[in-house]
Amino acid sequence: NVHGTTSDFTGTLKNTTSKLTDASTPADIMSLVKVITNETEKMIEHNKVLEGRLTHSSEIMGDLKKDMERIRREAVTDGLTGLANRKAFDDQIGRSCREAKRSKDIFSLIIIDIDHFKAFNDKFGHQIGDQVLRLVALTLVDEVKGQDMAARYGGEEFCIILPSTTKDDAKHVAENLRRAVERKEVINRSTGDNLGQITISLGVAEYLLEDTPEELIRRADRALYKSKDDGRNRITVASVPTEIPAEKPVM
Ligand code: GH3
Ligand code: MG
Ligand code: MG
Repeated sequence: NVHGTTSDFTGTLKNTTSKLTDASTPADIMSLVKVITNETEKMIEHNKVLEGRLTHSSEIMGDLKKDMERIRREAVTDGLTGLANRKAFDDQIGRSCREAKRSKDIFSLIIIDIDHFKAFNDKFGHQIGDQVLRLVALTLVDEVKGQDMAARYGGEEFCIILPSTTKDDAKHVAENLRRAVERKEVINRSTGDNLGQITISLGVAEYLLEDTPEELIRRADRALYKSKDDGRNRITVASVPTEIPAEKPVM
């Protein structure tokens, strides 16, 4: 009991000091000094125990802090690719929309889907499929710059949020991505076989004032599907929906 020991010590000191009077003999004083010395030694011993316990506690706290950081990181990371996961993406696009609405800044979104991935998976197996997902993820990381966020949206779909970027600049990034993926070859690691190329289709959309994340994602997704319809391995930029002026009621 920490508190008890400290107050015992204080009590003994007070008690002992009050025994010192004008009449105290050197022998009295010697014995009081002995009492104080004993008590002090006990206190030092006790402090050592306390220090040990404190060190132990702070080690445990350090471990807990590391665990929490790891858990927090894992909660926003896709296990297969190491990219930001769907949750992190949803949080970020929500923040980006709120921020853009407030500051009237623009940003763009790219949605990416691997072409004919099911056929690739069925032909070469799920493990090779996973390897392709990692290859595409790595290519995204290589191609996007610091403030852009690349995320795995789902199965074989990826998203990139590009802050302060117009749709024309985002189209540029998308084109670089498309080419970078097309350039890569998939090699079966165990056999060394070249399994050929993969391609991606992309949809680009720019934030419009008052957009909700759902509206922005829907526009980018529609653009992506247009890329698929038009033959894949290409980019479509979502057109800005033109507002139809409401007709004046005829009186
Ligand atoms: P499209 O060109 O139209 O996009 O065709 P697709 O085959 O790529 O599209 P589809 O949506 O039909 O197939 C997606 C496939 O992705 C189906 C599923 O087997 C595979 N897939 C989804 N998640 C994973 C994963 O984590 N690992 C692997 N290996 N495959 C996955
Ligand atoms: Mg898909
Ligand atoms: Mg696909």
